[in-house]
Amino acid sequence: MNSVPDYFGSLVFDDRAMKAKLPFGVYDSLRKTIDEGASLNTDVANAVADAMKDWAVEHGATHFTHWFQPLTGITAEKHDSFIASSPDGGVIMEFSGKNLIQGEPDASSFPSGGLRATFEARGYTAWDPTSYAFIKDKTLCIPTAFCSYGGEALDKKTPLLRSMQALNKQAMRIMRLFGNTDVKCVRTCVGPEQEYFLVDKDMYEQRKDLVFCGRTLFGAKPPKGQELDDHYFGAIKPRVAAYMAELNEELWKLGILAKTEHNEVAPSQHELAPIYTTTNIATDHNQLTMEIMQKVASKHGLVCLLHEKPFAGVNGSGKHNNWSMATDNGVNLLTPGETPHENAQFLLFLVAVIQAVDDYQDLLRLSVATAGNDHRLGANEAPPAVVSMFLGDELTAVLDAIEKDEPYSGVEKTVMKLGVHTLPRFIRDTTDRNRTSPFAFTGNKFEFRMLGSSDSIACANIMINAAVAESLRQYADKLEGAENFEGTLHDLIRSTVKEHKRILFNGNGYDDEWLKEAESRGLLNLRTTPDALPAMLEKKNVDMLMRHRVYSRAEIQARYEIILENYCKTVNIEALTMVDMARKEILPAVAAYEKDLADTLEAKLKMLPELTGRYERRTIAKLSGLVDEIDAAAEELDRATIRLKTINDVAEASYYIRDVILHKMAELRVVCDEAEMLTAEKYWPFPTYEKLLFGVR
Ligand code: ADP
Ligand code: MG
Repeated sequence: MNSVPDYFGSLVFDDRAMKAKLPFGVYDSLRKTIDEGASLNTDVANAVADAMKDWAVEHGATHFTHWFQPLTGITAEKHDSFIASSPDGGVIMEFSGKNLIQGEPDASSFPSGGLRATFEARGYTAWDPTSYAFIKDKTLCIPTAFCSYGGEALDKKTPLLRSMQALNKQAMRIMRLFGNTDVKCVRTCVGPEQEYFLVDKDMYEQRKDLVFCGRTLFGAKPPKGQELDDHYFGAIKPRVAAYMAELNEELWKLGILAKTEHNEVAPSQHELAPIYTTTNIATDHNQLTMEIMQKVASKHGLVCLLHEKPFAGVNGSGKHNNWSMATDNGVNLLTPGETPHENAQFLLFLVAVIQAVDDYQDLLRLSVATAGNDHRLGANEAPPAVVSMFLGDELTAVLDAIEKDEPYSGVEKTVMKLGVHTLPRFIRDTTDRNRTSPFAFTGNKFEFRMLGSSDSIACANIMINAAVAESLRQYADKLEGAENFEGTLHDLIRSTVKEHKRILFNGNGYDDEWLKEAESRGLLNLRTTPDALPAMLEKKNVDMLMRHRVYSRAEIQARYEIILENYCKTVNIEALTMVDMARKEILPAVAAYEKDLADTLEAKLKMLPELTGRYERRTIAKLSGLVDEIDAAAEELDRATIRLKTINDVAEASYYIRDVILHKMAELRVVCDEAEMLTAEKYWPFPTYEKLLFGVR
């Protein structure tokens, strides 16, 4: 088990393992299920289960679990052991097709937003055969969807799979129109770039804010932050390098194609990117990656922070969602083609995405809305909360030419004739990448950059897939009935560009000027989660999501409530943690330091009565003022949390948080951070920013 190819995927029941373990007929049926969604009969399921169990037991597994993604954001599992008693007093290892295909976790404590009445608390899990089973902690994990008995999705995988189906259905209509008869399906692919921070575990444990909230709620700026940018792509420190090496190994064993890793802009911030794969597998892999990142960190005396904004004043962490569409025979539909015909097809898929992003800006924005990500979007290192798209100069020029019916002169300086029957041929984008755009075309994929680092990528991809499916549906409806295909196609591309070009912006997304311009273009600026979420219930959005069977009405309502509830709970915990730390740790520490100063002053004056004691007096005076302010601010915040408890409506509660609680939290923080700057370091009750950010060597 030394070389990577030897152990890559060794803990996955992947195609190699299936081929090796399954009788040929069984393998064939399973492959059909995986590739074409054919249903699996009981005999085949039993044979698969048996082989899977044998393979898992050979690899040291003792238990199995259905592994699923409830609406809490993390993954859930309920372990059962394989053992069954045998008549001779021993045990046998047992696992049936029924165990494989369906499970019944006692799921009454997962959030359901009212979808699952308590009398039928036992939702069920159903195997997703398109995502391979794997072994983690001696447990065979079977990726599953999680539904109520009424069939409503209680998880993130089910709507993601539905959205992929919706996109496939509409994209296939387009493929047929372009005469692609050999294509069997269109899949969306994703490569998520995952950012994270590493901090020392001992220091982490001394901070209640990190332990309870995953982010610091206090902390004065250290003398050095990220201003030198000297950490980015700098040499990786030995302790971090050891961590990354083990992380890679663990991920590779699980068949996760972890490819690149490097330091990020902020001190102690890093990134890991896998090679892209089918969206539902990429989603499962990203959930696993986040879990393994934390587990491996712990072994190295580190803690991996996945929060979007662990530290004020330094960059937060996001997750770039690189998204594309590809046919089953490996053609990327977002790659500009060689011939005008191929280019017409490319342009149609391109404008489908443009229209989708413009029409459903609100859904994209709210798909990444969390309390944590609110600190990041719109801050000066993250994309703004306004959704816009970057295409690069060349593609923009192509679309411009189409819109104006003018000849296009590309980089090659060859003038393309643009008549009704011809569409331009152009070469791949050569312009620099725009790093500030929320939704950027990067050659053969779109990079959606608004996702938070701790988010499941499912939510964003559900919305992207559904919205693009909707554009494609409209196009297919028009084109299928068209008498003149090429002419209709040309007009369609042209009118789409005209209608939706307001979403295109190639400039600097961090610029304040842009926010003003975006407003004049009528683009949405949904700054916070409470601002964004109500759009989920808007008719145009509900209609679209229901039309493509991505969500039912009840599922949309449930998700709206769960996301807002989660937002409220998260901030409430933060507020309570702040009050607790201010009262139990910060105020006593400052008081102790004041006493020390007062004792010093008294001793000094006794010895040398002619001294002024300027330093002690002034510091005590300033700190005394601050402790009173801290005390008052803590009390106000405390009161606000009590008031919050009395608000029953979840939307109203979220507004109260946005308008009152977050401000009171900020006020408390300011005075505490000021006190930190005046207090002797050895009195400060928990590790400072300096230690946290520069403490891992
Ligand atoms: P960056 O410069 O942003 O780091 P990279 O080219 O290194 O970009 O790619 C980042 C991510 O994009 C990787 O996870 C990669 O697998 C993914 N990616 C590359 N091509 C595609 C594609 N066609 N579809 C989806 N994701 C892709
Ligand atoms: Mg990127």
